[in-house]
Amino acid sequence: MSEQQRAERTERRVVVAGAGMAGVQTAVALREQGFTGPVTLIGAEPHQPYDRPPLSKAVLLGKAEESAFDIDFEALGITLRLGCEVTGVRAGDHELDTSEGPVPYDVLVLATGAEPVALPGSDGVPGVHLLRTLDDAARLRPVLEAGHPVVVVGAGWIGAEFATAARAAGCEVTVVEAADRPLAGALPAEVAAPMADWYEESGARLLTGARVARVESGAVVLDDGRTLPADAVVVGIGARPATGWLADSGIALGPEGSVTADAALRTSVPDVYAVGDCASFPSARYGTRLVVHHWDNALQGPRTAAAHIAAQGAADVPPYDPVPYFWSEQFGRFVQYAGHHADADTPLWRGDPAEPAWSVCWLRDGVLVAVLAVGRPRDLAQGRRLVEAGARIDAARAADPAVPLKSTALP
Ligand SMILES: Cc1cc2nc3c(=O)[nH]c(=O)nc-3n(C[C@H](O)[C@H](O)[C@H](O)COP(=O)(O)OP(=O)(O)OC[C@H]3O[C@@H](n4cnc5c(N)ncnc54)[C@H](O)[C@@H]3O)c2cc1C
Repeated sequence: MSEQQRAERTERRVVVAGAGMAGVQTAVALREQGFTGPVTLIGAEPHQPYDRPPLSKAVLLGKAEESAFDIDFEALGITLRLGCEVTGVRAGDHELDTSEGPVPYDVLVLATGAEPVALPGSDGVPGVHLLRTLDDAARLRPVLEAGHPVVVVGAGWIGAEFATAARAAGCEVTVVEAADRPLAGALPAEVAAPMADWYEESGARLLTGARVARVESGAVVLDDGRTLPADAVVVGIGARPATGWLADSGIALGPEGSVTADAALRTSVPDVYAVGDCASFPSARYGTRLVVHHWDNALQGPRTAAAHIAAQGAADVPPYDPVPYFWSEQFGRFVQYAGHHADADTPLWRGDPAEPAWSVCWLRDGVLVAVLAVGRPRDLAQGRRLVEAGARIDAARAADPAVPLKSTALP
C-alpha cells in the first residue's frame, strides 16, 4: 500500500452518534486499531460519557457520585460534542442533522442505545421515574435517602436492582409484576420462580399477576381496584432501541426498532455501522437475529465495527457472533448469564435453588448453549468457554454441582 493510499485510508471522518458505552468503545477501539483520521463522538446528554450499570447500584445508593469513563478523549484525539442531539441522517449526502446543525461524515456509527418504555398514561404524573440516565439516578437518590415508600412497576433486571437498592436504603418497597413471576421475559418459569423468594427475603413485597390500571400522584391503582400508596413510582418495564430518529433515513430497522446490522455490524446503507443496544445482528451460532441490551455487547461489538472501519475491508475480520454475557447484582446475589437459550432447550440444574448458590445449564442436543449462575462465578466462567466452543457435555456428571463444569465436556 502506498503512503498516499494509507493516508486516504486513515483520513476518513468517522462520526459516532451516541456517546454511551458502545459509542465510546467504538471511538477508543478505532484508535487502538491504528485509525488516525478524525473521530467525533456526538452525545445528547450534557454529561461526560459514563457507564450505566453503576446507576442502579452504587450511584443510586450514593456510594459513588458518578460513573464517568476514565478516558482521556483529548489525548486520543477524539472530539466530543456533548449536549448535541442527532435528529436525522441524510445518507445520500453523508450528512447528519443535529440540534447544532449538519455534521458531515465519511463513516457513521449508530450507537444511540435504548430508551426505557414508559408506563402508558404516566406521562407528567409527579413522582413517576424511569432509570436509564445519570439524571434519572440523581432524581431517585433523594427518594432513597428519605426512605420514602416506593412502588416498582416491573420485576425485570432494572426493577430487581432498584428494589435491592431501595430496600438497602430502608424504603418500603412494593414490586408490581403483570406476569406470574419475576423475569418472565428472560427466563423459564422453573428457573425464575425461586427468584420470587428473594424479594420477600429482602423485605420487599412482590405482587405477581398484578396489572397497573393507572398511576396517580402518590398512588398506583391496580386493575383489581387495589391502591398502593407510593411517594415514588419507578417504572422498569423494558427498553427499546433509540432509533426513532432514523425513521426517514432509509436505514433498515427490525420490527422492534433495532438497526438490523450484518455480521460486520454494517447497516443496510453504505458506510453506516450500528453497535450496542440500538443494533441487532445475525447470530450463526444461535441461528437467529439477536438484540442484546447488555454491557458486554456494547464492549465487544464496537471492536468488530472499528476493525472493519480501520481496515476498510482490507483485513480478515471474524464475523460478530459473540456468546452474549451479562450480570446483575440483586438481593445480595451475583447473577450471571452467558449464551442464549430457546424455549425448546433443556435446563439442567446444578444445585438447589433454595440455597444461596446454584446454576442452570441449557442443553440443545447435548450441546451446552447457555448457563445461568447465581453465586457460582466458576460455573459461569467455565460454562461460557464451553458454550463458546460448542461443547457437548455429560449431563449426568454436570448435574452434580461438586463436579467442575469444565470436566464434564465430552471428547
Ligand atoms: C440502570 C442500568 C443498569 C444496568 N446494569 C447492567 C448490568 O448490571 N449488567 C449488564 O450487562 N448490563 C447492564 N445494563 C445495560 C448496559 O448498561 C447497556 O447495555 C449499555 O449501556 C448499552 O450501551 P449503548 O452505548 O449501546 O447504549 P446507551 O448506554 O444507552 O448509550 C447511548 C447514548 O446515546 C445517546 N443518544 C440517544 N439518542 C441520541 C441522539 N438522537 N443523539 C445523540 N445522542 C443520543 C444517549 O443519550 C446515550 O447516552 C444496565 C443498564 C441500565 C440503564
